[in-house]
Amino acid sequence: QDVVNKIAAGEIIVAPVHALKELMENAVDAGSTALEVVVKDGGLKLLQITDNGHGIDKEDLPILCERFTTSKLKAFEDLSSIGTYGFRGEALASISHIAHLCVTTRTKESSCAWRAQFADGKLSNPKPGQSADPKPIAGRPGTQITVEDLFYNVPSRRRAFRSSSEEYAKILDLVGRYAVHCAGVSFSCKKHGGSTTDISVPVAASTVDRIRQIHGSTVANELVSLKAENDRWGFKCEGWVSNANYSAKRTALLLFINHRSVESQTIKKSVEQTYTTFLPKGGHPFIYLSLDIEPQRVDVNVHPTKREVHFLNEDEIIAIICDEIRTCLSKVDT
Ligand code: ADP
Ligand code: MG
Repeated sequence: QDVVNKIAAGEIIVAPVHALKELMENAVDAGSTALEVVVKDGGLKLLQITDNGHGIDKEDLPILCERFTTSKLKAFEDLSSIGTYGFRGEALASISHIAHLCVTTRTKESSCAWRAQFADGKLSNPKPGQSADPKPIAGRPGTQITVEDLFYNVPSRRRAFRSSSEEYAKILDLVGRYAVHCAGVSFSCKKHGGSTTDISVPVAASTVDRIRQIHGSTVANELVSLKAENDRWGFKCEGWVSNANYSAKRTALLLFINHRSVESQTIKKSVEQTYTTFLPKGGHPFIYLSLDIEPQRVDVNVHPTKREVHFLNEDEIIAIICDEIRTCLSKVDT
């Protein structure tokens, strides 16, 4: 059974950045307004995320890493919508099968924090002979999740990583994406023991301010607000587009569907196509799009990780968004 769990976990979490994405989403779901990330060796040695959210009840700790344990069901209208927000209650379980996981958490009501270690879905003892029960310690309200030695028991996966700086770059990219989407949350991200903080942004008053914090004034000064919606296709889209030549190498498309960072090659291709008439040859734009799509219209069965998303009437919805991008860009002086 453990082997099956380990394999399943390895399919959901292929790289450190995938574990971090789950942890960041949990922190945001917990209502956090401050989120700190510390990374060692591209996330393979250490991924630590500290939030100031509502914390986890001590009573819930023993089952925290059991598969399909989630506190979020009531937040969803009906069961059919659950899948949209990713697999439910599997992230921490998965991580506990392929890494050493330590959770320190305190709710507002609790007089102290509680610390627990997990292995293979269950509470585990930190040292041989010690009890596996959560231990009381001093700490502020919120949650700190520490993931160490990711893939320690999956040598093939470990070997696949060549460069920790490449993995760290993916982590910075992801933190930057959530930072843009969650302007009301402060973010920081740095390497363990490092003297510089690579991302450090205070709570921003607006998305534009946040884009300025993360991507600089060149991009922020050119932003045009995009809004599109259509009841028939069950979607709403808000975003900011810019024809600033963001990068010589690649389009910066920050895409969120139902508040989860996702990828869609279909959207990316259409957006790039739309831009060709507005950008100098070889230029690459910056676009942030946040789509709300009726959950039952989103296809979650593409891949367990939901990194590549599809939804009903994709072509129609993309056409409406691209039309809107065209309208936005023709408003900008070139
Ligand atoms: P899901 O997010 O789908 O519910 P997870 O495995 O990611 O499943 O998390 C399991 C549960 O652990 C969550 O439902 C939540 O109750 C709790 N949890 C995880 N991380 C945090 C956090 N940072 N703050 C508060 N609660 C958390
Ligand atoms: Mg989660």
